[in-house]
Amino acid sequence: MDAKQRITIARGDGIGPEIMDACLEIITAAGARLEFDFIEVGEKIYLQGYTSGISPEAWETLRRNKIFFKAPITTPQGGGYKSLNVNIRKTLGLYANVRPAISYDPFIPSKYPKMNLVIIRENEEDLYAGIEHQQTPEVVQCLKLFSRPGTEKIIRYAFEFTRAQGRKKLTCMTKDNIMKMTDGMFHKIFDEVGQEYPDIEKEHWIVDIGMAKIADTPQDFDVIVMPNLYGDIASDMAAQIAGSVGLAGSANIGDDFAMFEAIHGSAPRRANQNLANPSGLLHAGILMLLHIGQNDVAEKVHNAWLKTIEDRVVTYDIARKIKEVGETNYTEVGTKEFAKAVIERLGERPQHFKPVEYASVPPMKIGKSQYKNVRDQEKVLVGVDVFLNEKNLSPNELGQALDKLAGDEFKLVMISNRGQLVYPGGFPETFCTDHWRCRFERKSDMITVNHNSIRELLSRIEQAGFDWIKLENLYYITGQRAYSLGGGQ
Ligand code: NAD
Repeated sequence: MDAKQRITIARGDGIGPEIMDACLEIITAAGARLEFDFIEVGEKIYLQGYTSGISPEAWETLRRNKIFFKAPITTPQGGGYKSLNVNIRKTLGLYANVRPAISYDPFIPSKYPKMNLVIIRENEEDLYAGIEHQQTPEVVQCLKLFSRPGTEKIIRYAFEFTRAQGRKKLTCMTKDNIMKMTDGMFHKIFDEVGQEYPDIEKEHWIVDIGMAKIADTPQDFDVIVMPNLYGDIASDMAAQIAGSVGLAGSANIGDDFAMFEAIHGSAPRRANQNLANPSGLLHAGILMLLHIGQNDVAEKVHNAWLKTIEDRVVTYDIARKIKEVGETNYTEVGTKEFAKAVIERLGERPQHFKPVEYASVPPMKIGKSQYKNVRDQEKVLVGVDVFLNEKNLSPNELGQALDKLAGDEFKLVMISNRGQLVYPGGFPETFCTDHWRCRFERKSDMITVNHNSIRELLSRIEQAGFDWIKLENLYYITGQRAYSLGGGQ
């Protein structure tokens, strides 16, 4: 029998404390070999003035114990508060978010009785970098950042997870027909890494039609790997159509740390009424037990939960779903009574559902993350995109003025507005804002440009009275153009 493992627990806000207490009671009764350190995160801490929602002492506990079981927290609305979840995921390097969505029909009605999929969502990058700026009175931007290591880590994790869990197919979803560099890299690395996994069936869908397919025929999917934003949206949708967001748990996995939580929030309106469903958090707890190798306990808890559902003992949210399909045969109970019902069934196995067998299921974490080091790749500066705030000139007037400022080294290749080419040869009908991207490339391959060439170009632009607001350097990396063309270029 292995020694007790110390883990960190946050009981959270809203329904958090009730569902966490219920889960701890169940897993303790099932014989979990755990010791708990409780930390306070969320609303109270935000209101004490820690805008991140977590205190320095709590960080210490998290870093010491490495495993974090977290109930949902309330993020105060408006001003200055940062998402604690995003903060914890990034600070602790929890790059993989694993979200199973499984149907328990007919006991929990779902239109998709055969649905059993896992979404693996990249957890640290994409638009969630949260780098946003207002650059002109009319235009704000959010940077969508994908790194090669970050992408390769999540793709490798998804392949390893698929293989380790005995699943057969891995689907990748991106929008690389539009975002050819960010989503394009995600797809490309999926194809590259996929070659190392001949035993796994692979497919790629453009995310819009892919999501439509998840909503229509979720039973056709097995494991799906996605960038952060798409994965966030798809996994809530998948959980909801499987039965309810209140049922799904998730694992956030990194090389050194892991965090387990329900996918739903703190549902403040349901708090302190012994109403909430602890099942989502319990499923997160099962993933945690598997992660730390207490598979025997995970199996016992999961089978008891399945038997409870089969016996039609449910909380209000599931009762409502059952009522909607015209059934009357169920017992509606509160949070505490639901936990008691699961505890009473510990050691029992479901009759209708296939009992889970976890003896040989490997941990959620699969070795140290791996990625190729590309830092030394050859990078050649070939030009610059100068972004201007200009409110009076037409595209042609702006173009003609900038042509004269390009100098000996550069030529003005194009001007775009919101990504669409407007000079040379734009259409007068194209709507223009006060935010212009002006692309200067070196005049020929024989010319070498450097930072100083760009500084001089910028001085000329500034002296001519233009308001530059940002620059993006243009590079060739390993001989390939490493920037997108303008729309219509
Ligand atoms: P929510 O998921 O908390 O609740 C939406 C609705 O779903 C609730 O009104 C309730 O009817 C139902 N519901 C959710 N979980 C349930 C459960 N376990 N049992 C029964 N019914 C349940 O979403 P929200 O109302 O948008 O967010 C409330 C707060 O939670 C916000 O402050 C938000 O920032 C926070 N939140 C936290 C997390 C997290 O900590 N991981 C995740 C999402 C939202």
